[in-house]
Amino acid sequence: MSKDLHSETSFSGHANPGGTVRDAQRLAARTAEIGGGISVARLLPTRQRRMIGAWCFLDHAGPATFAPGGGLRVGPHPHTCLQTFTWMLEGEILHHDSLGNEQMIRPGQVNLMTAGHGIAHTEESPAKETRAHAAQLWIALPADSTDIAPAFDHYPELPRWQENGCQFTLLAGVHGGHTAPAKIYSPLIGMDLFSTQGAALTLPLDHTFEYGILPLEGITEVEGVSFAADELAYLASGYSALPIKLAAGTRALLIGGQPFEDPITLWWNFVGRDKTYIAQAQRDWESNSPRFGDVKGFAGPRLVAPNLPWATT
Ligand code: MN
Repeated sequence: MSKDLHSETSFSGHANPGGTVRDAQRLAARTAEIGGGISVARLLPTRQRRMIGAWCFLDHAGPATFAPGGGLRVGPHPHTCLQTFTWMLEGEILHHDSLGNEQMIRPGQVNLMTAGHGIAHTEESPAKETRAHAAQLWIALPADSTDIAPAFDHYPELPRWQENGCQFTLLAGVHGGHTAPAKIYSPLIGMDLFSTQGAALTLPLDHTFEYGILPLEGITEVEGVSFAADELAYLASGYSALPIKLAAGTRALLIGGQPFEDPITLWWNFVGRDKTYIAQAQRDWESNSPRFGDVKGFAGPRLVAPNLPWATT
């Protein structure tokens, strides 16, 4: 593997089917630890790119193997003005939230938690679990929906189909006559592509969307340029079709959406319209405000919000 594949670099793309020469941007992951022997590749936000459509956070967690009793163990913590989106690939994770929901998520399923005005939750690997592999994303809520009531939805069945040697799973949005059940608040898409033998495809795209394609395993070729696992290919809006190739055994995540116009601030586990909103959310969490409620069913302390990194009055 050449070192160049892992450097943060822009390069000239090739002519797209619309005839315009475009640039694809290669975004490298930062490595983060979420505890329990699971390391994550963090693709959003990065210095070069904060969002793709309303998608404002993207962690590729695992694949990881750990001893029984290890794995994920994230205590009660709050969220605001966003939806957390979990796409499970291997292993199981147990969710509890302050609305009283208890839900196990299994491979092939999506959990969508709408924080809106405020919610708290926990996530943990079950005691006997030894594997974890998932994509964990956040979706920013648009300005007219930031303060909606919190909600939690579990989607065990998703639209799946085979085409040209590729298995598609639609995680969110619409594609090729399929509609995913996830309740979303801005135009966006999430899709999983998997090919055992390898595949060459031309994906129809929405020209009003910007896109990111992230190989989770294997190698994806976008407009003739190779992207390895945990290298995110970013495409600005303007594509109505995109030729891609998946090497044998490749799984790739496609996300996209209309460029998000509303200003947002992202700090710790909060999204908000500005720093004042974030500071209030932090105070509310630290003062045990009923805004976030209590999570039952998790044995462990709640997470403490760090101090705000900017001066407050
Ligand atoms: Mn969370």
